[in-house]
This record gives sequence, C-alpha cells and structure tokens, in this order.
Amino acid sequence: MSEKMHLLKHAIVVAVSSNYVSKVVGLASLSLASIVIDETIGLIKRYFWQNYVTELEVSNSDKCYHWLLQWISKYNEHLLHFSVTTVCRNTESGHATSKFDYEPSSGEHMFKYKGHTIRVKRDRSSMISSEYGSRPYETLNLSTWGRNRQVLNEILEEGWCSAFHKIYSIDFPSARLYAMSVMELGTTLMVPSYDTWHNFGEPRIPRSLSSVILDEGVIENILKDIHDFVDDQSWYLERGIPYRRGYLLYGPPGCGKTSMIMALAGEIKYNLCVLSLNDSKMSDDQLVQLMGEVPSKSFVLLEDIDAMFANRDGKTVIEGSTKVTLSGLLNALDGVVSSECRILFMTTNYVDRLDSALIRSGRVDYKQYIGTCSDHQLSQMFIRFRPEGTIDDKSRFVKDVRKYSKPVVPSHLQEFFLLHRHKELNYVFEHINDLWQNVQD
Ligand code: ADP
Repeated sequence: MSEKMHLLKHAIVVAVSSNYVSKVVGLASLSLASIVIDETIGLIKRYFWQNYVTELEVSNSDKCYHWLLQWISKYNEHLLHFSVTTVCRNTESGHATSKFDYEPSSGEHMFKYKGHTIRVKRDRSSMISSEYGSRPYETLNLSTWGRNRQVLNEILEEGWCSAFHKIYSIDFPSARLYAMSVMELGTTLMVPSYDTWHNFGEPRIPRSLSSVILDEGVIENILKDIHDFVDDQSWYLERGIPYRRGYLLYGPPGCGKTSMIMALAGEIKYNLCVLSLNDSKMSDDQLVQLMGEVPSKSFVLLEDIDAMFANRDGKTVIEGSTKVTLSGLLNALDGVVSSECRILFMTTNYVDRLDSALIRSGRVDYKQYIGTCSDHQLSQMFIRFRPEGTIDDKSRFVKDVRKYSKPVVPSHLQEFFLLHRHKELNYVFEHINDLWQNVQD
C-alpha cells in the first residue's frame, strides 16, 4: 500500500513538472483573457452604439422602404452588390412598358453622404406568418456615427423626393414641395396582401372630376351625397347606425364608372382599396378581416360584381375561381366597422344579374346608371378634344353622330378623337362613321 502511495506521489510530481500541464494552464488563461477582451470590446461597442451612433430602421411595410432602397442605389452608382426587379406596367393607352429597378442587395453596404459615413444593412431573412399564409418581412437599417438624426432625416427626405422626381419627371429642387402636395392630394391604390392592405404603386395625381364627362348633375349629386355622409358622423353614431354607405354604379362597359370613382376619391382626398373577389386565394374569413381593416379615408371598390356572383343560390361561385361565397361577401359587408366611415363602391355591367340581397338598402344606399353618351356628353367631349371648334361645330358634331341612331360609348368616343387628333375638323366630320367601325369591342 505504501509502495502504491509512493508511486502516485511520484506520478503527480512528474505530471506537474511536465510541459503538458503548463500548456493546458497556458491555454486556459489565454481563452479566459480572450473572453474578457471580447466582453470588454462588446461593452465598449454597446456603449458607443447607444451613445454615439444614430440608427434608423425601416420595415418593408412602410411606404418609404422601396423609395429609400432605390435612392441609395441611384445615389451610389459605384455600388457593386445590388438586386434587380423588373417592373411591367400597362399605360392608359394600353401599351405595356417594362423597366428595371435596382436596389442594394441583402447584407451590409457603406456610403458617404454629405461627409458622413452611412452604413446600410438590409435584412431579408424573416417571414411573418398569419392564418392566411406567410409574407416576407424585410428591414433596412441606416446608421451613422454621432448623435445625428438630422442627416438620416435628410436621407429620408431626399429618397422621398427622388421617388417623386422619377414618377412625375419634375425638376429636383421643386420635387420636395411637389412631393408634399401630391402626398396631400394624391390617391393611393391599395390591394389586399394576405390579411391586410398594401399600397399598389406610388400615389397618383388624381384624375380631375371635370375630365369625367357624364350627364348633367350625375357627378355633382353623388359628390354632394358623399360630402353629406362624411360630415354626418355624429348623426350615425348617436343613433347607433353603422357608419357606412354603399354606392352602385351600373351600365355598359367604357362609360366612365371606374373613372368617376377614381376622380371622386381624388376630389375628397381618399385612397382606393380595390378588392378582387376572383382572387383564388381569397376566402370568406379573409374578406371579413380585410373589410375590418380598411384604412381610414379610403373607398372600397368591388368592380364587376356581377361576374363574381353569376348564380343566385349563395353557394361558391361558378365564374372565376374564387372561394368567396355570396353569404361570405354579405357577412363582410355587414361586419363590424370602426367608427371611421366606410364608403363602398360596386360596379356592374348587368345590374339585373345581381342578387337582390347584395344591393338591398343598407348595403347599397345610392344607385346610379352610367350609360352611353347623351347629347350633352357628346358636345362636352367634342369641346374637350377639339377646343378649337366653334359652337356651330359642336352642334354639327352632335347632329351628325345622331344621324346614325346608334349609341356611343364614351371610351369609343375618346378612342375616335385620339385616332384623329392630328386631322382637320372637316376630316373628323367626314369620318364619324369610324366611331362604330374602328373601335375595338
Ligand atoms: P367603365 O368603368 O364604365 O367600364 P372606365 O371608367 O374604365 O369605364 O372608362 C374607360 C376609358 O374610357 C377611360 O380611359 C376613360 O378615360 C374613358 N371614359 C369612359 N367614360 C368616360 C366619360 N364619361 N368621360 C370621360 N372619359 C371617359
């Protein structure tokens, strides 16, 4: 036993004196030192970050997210890491255009702005999930040394103005003022994205009411009704009546239903939430959720409602591939709305195909037929497109069109005037027949 103890003692002495243990001890102290250094650096960084770095975070749910990204890539032409999006648009004349939008790619970028170093960090890795699916959640972080909110504000403003400069092709110095005024006056189109509403494109310069030519009093009356409704919130609330109003515009296609709604929205500075029930992903529950989340100061537009509910039994619809049912739509229309007003516009080419439940009073409070051109519309459209014409020319135009005893759709008339815009007036009179021949159905 004492011999064993002796051997053990000897082994310990050998081990302690050997290089092996001293190496282990050395390594352990090195790691400890590096942990302490890391922690200290982290602490110092955090301290500086909190006290000497200004940071701005923008998420992709905010309007300025894409404006800022585009401005950053435009401002930094030497940027090497970027991503591209191809944007296709249909112009009013029906031509398709496409262009490339460049944006900084995911990760970190640095650039100088008015002498300040700006760090940009774009993170595209997260998703937000809801019962209606997942959508990408992206963030953009701009940071700079110093307590310097001003410089980040300036970047925001410049990104904003640059977006408007691009859209409306106006001089950069006046873009800021202009951007302000368009934000004030512009109409933003909004479309559903999963369970909420998202901007579709940039705010548009609203179409003027005077550019939509309808029979006398039609626009004035509907505008007065909207104004009365918007000004009457307390009347509804005091009586416990849901504060909402529905308008149905019906009549043949191309007579100005959509144009009028756009112009009305612009006139009262409202946005337009466009709902397409033919979206195959849309469900009854989602519709209720969307209706409950309509942003304030917005019209809701349901276009061509007859195409969605061709059958009358309230079951899933035949035309289109929508999952939305008539009863689901009725629920959504009657659902809880906030105390803000809800103004709904529905359009249809065939009012007689609509289920009476959909257009009963309370769901539709104001119906307006928008039809083919009356004499008044013919003469107003003539003046608008041929301002050089005399009063006699105007009367002759109406008389000549009426000789054919065929109805004239305003969109065809617009097409006719566009086609002959560089021709003499006499030529126009001689070719009135084109109104029914050259137009595409
Ligand atoms: P609808 O919604 O009745 O089908 P739109 O409003 O979409 O018709 O009109 C289609 C095109 O015709 C638009 O470019 C619009 O400028 C023109 N248009 C139609 N009706 C009118 C009108 N009453 N006044 C001025 N333009 C009109």
